[in-house]
Amino acid sequence: MIIQSQIRADISIIGGSGLYDPGIFKETQEVKVYTPYGEPSDRIIIGKLGNKIVAFLPRHGRGHRIPPHKINYRANIWALKNLGVKWVIAVSAVGSLREDYRPGDIVIPDQFIDMTKTRTYSFFDGHVVAHVSMADPFCEDLRRRIIDVTKELKFPFHDKGTYICIEGPRFSTRAESRVWKEVFKADIIGMTLVPEVNLACEAQLCYAVIALITDYDVWAERPVTAHEVEKVMKENIEKAKHILYELIPRLPPEPDETLCSCCRALETALL
Ligand SMILES: [Zn+2]
Repeated sequence: MIIQSQIRADISIIGGSGLYDPGIFKETQEVKVYTPYGEPSDRIIIGKLGNKIVAFLPRHGRGHRIPPHKINYRANIWALKNLGVKWVIAVSAVGSLREDYRPGDIVIPDQFIDMTKTRTYSFFDGHVVAHVSMADPFCEDLRRRIIDVTKELKFPFHDKGTYICIEGPRFSTRAESRVWKEVFKADIIGMTLVPEVNLACEAQLCYAVIALITDYDVWAERPVTAHEVEKVMKENIEKAKHILYELIPRLPPEPDETLCSCCRALETALL
């Protein structure tokens, strides 16, 4: 183990439920990063894939120790930024709010709705105030690159989707689930996107999500067994690893500026 060092990485992955070590990197080492915001979810695994140096952080900590509302999102994003990464690929398990978004499908969301309540949403807590634009919250360049690879691998996917982020750790009631689906018109539901995406934007990182559908949310009134969910989750994680394996070596050092404005997010945000 190496303690806070001059180690740099090109690309980072934030792994969600079930993805605690992708096992696709060579020459791995673990780095403990200290941040002004406290401890990240875990030590960061740094490894090589092709000619890229990749930093991997399990969002919930290895062994799923940290619930969604207790994750230190600021420390996680700060730690990745501190390693010098440009790209952040987030992997998340989600529920579906649509019949045609099926368990086992992959969604690359393009919008979100924030229904969280108790989180710390910004690096700018005073002295300097920033209002970053969230009109298009994800890096369009990274989204398109994930879509291209997913298509190539012939995995079932949806190139758009609105992710509603709830506070958790409990799941929605049936009434809530119907509101998310029928009134808010959200497509998928999870508990971890916010404030990870906001903070990535404030840090001027290129952020996009590979969302893996594990089940239909309770609106469907289609009870699923834990065994079924576990089986779909395992298959989903394998798909995510395949996508990462193909995608990472192809990512350029810099995003395409005609598609991405992430690196300029603070230019018009600071007061
Ligand atoms: Zn970008």
